[in-house]
Amino acid sequence: MSVSLDLTRAAPAATAHAPKLANLTGLTRAGLAQALVAADVVRPEKAKMRATQLWRWMHHYGVTDFANMTDVAKETRGALAQHFTLARPEIVERQVSKDGTRKWLIRMAPGIEVETVYIPDVGRSGALCVSSQVGCTLNCTFCHTGTQALVRNLTAAEIVAQVQVARDDLAEWPSPKEDRRLSNIVFMGMGEPLYNLDNVADAIDIISDGEGIAISRRRITVSTSGVVPELKPLGERTQAMLAISLHATNDALRDELVPLNKKYDIAALMAGIRAYPGIANTRRVTFEYVMLKDVNDSPAEARALVQLLKGIPAKINLIPFNPWPGSIYECSSWSTIEAFAAILNRAGYASPIRTPRGRDILAACGQLKSESEKMRASERRRLEQGAPAYVVVDTAEDDTE
Ligand code: SAH
Ligand code: SF4
Repeated sequence: MSVSLDLTRAAPAATAHAPKLANLTGLTRAGLAQALVAADVVRPEKAKMRATQLWRWMHHYGVTDFANMTDVAKETRGALAQHFTLARPEIVERQVSKDGTRKWLIRMAPGIEVETVYIPDVGRSGALCVSSQVGCTLNCTFCHTGTQALVRNLTAAEIVAQVQVARDDLAEWPSPKEDRRLSNIVFMGMGEPLYNLDNVADAIDIISDGEGIAISRRRITVSTSGVVPELKPLGERTQAMLAISLHATNDALRDELVPLNKKYDIAALMAGIRAYPGIANTRRVTFEYVMLKDVNDSPAEARALVQLLKGIPAKINLIPFNPWPGSIYECSSWSTIEAFAAILNRAGYASPIRTPRGRDILAACGQLKSESEKMRASERRRLEQGAPAYVVVDTAEDDTE
């Protein structure tokens, strides 16, 4: 399948050069109340009420200007604008695919740029793939992000901003109750979310709040390469759905593909998953398995995978490998992937192959790069880093109850 793209060089955000004011849109409810009091804009006894009022405007109506908060006194709006901002980060590039996939390169701060991708027809109606870090400290050998040093963790505000930017672009304010285009969130962009759990958890609190963006925790999936000690805290703190990047069924191979396995091996990982809070037949764990030609794609490995997952409420997503320049792997052939999937199907795992949309979009990255030759080198590098960002787990099951 080939996808052609409408490339739009986004106009710089009007607020990009505004003076540095604290941004309220990425604060938790408690943080918001505190900020209002600390700036002396609101008296402590009114803080909770005022925070709730602002929350609705920011997260239900999506306003980015205090002037639009019509039930807030003019004087208070003025005081708010003196201390704070509601501005979105700058969108450096925006791409819209003919198949409806949208991609934004967002500049959070100088040198801090992340990609966020909206993919329609995943989950209930459409999933947003968000990044949790710029770069990654782990070095999975098939992952392009793994070749980049960690630049830094994203803040909760920067994670939430990715959702807000997508909502702006999809024109989904006020937060719709029915017929949403953005129904699911997956933490499958750049970075290892469990090495940034505090910010990921705060972001999930904000995104799932019923008086705001209101995306249910059951429709938020966090993907990890297997940071075992953080699994329980993730479940307890966020009640998010869990996805595990497994990719191999024995330690020798997983040590090679996902070097974190040397620290937390498959047995430890499986024990951690079994103990994940809230795991049930109606809340299954997703296992991601990247299909690498002649590396992990034999029928024997498919059978080993079935054995390994015995007793765990699981679904499996086979991900066709997304090649990148310099990678040492190739994607398994389609017939090999189908043969692998057939073994899983016979064991009761339905339709586990991810459609290779990811590859189309990576090709699109190349197009974008050639369209934008004048872009500075760091921006060009960023555009090549997207491999994991476009591989999105099908979370459709979350919506059946
Ligand atoms: N760090 C987390 C989440 C981001 S990666 C994790 O590893 O789970 C999201 C998914 O994309 C993971 O399953 C990852 O293994 C997979 N992935 C990374 N690079 C890929 C590539 N080149 N082709 C296909 N899948 C890839
Ligand atoms: Fe990091 Fe995930 Fe890539 Fe591994 S697959 S290097 S954990 S982003």
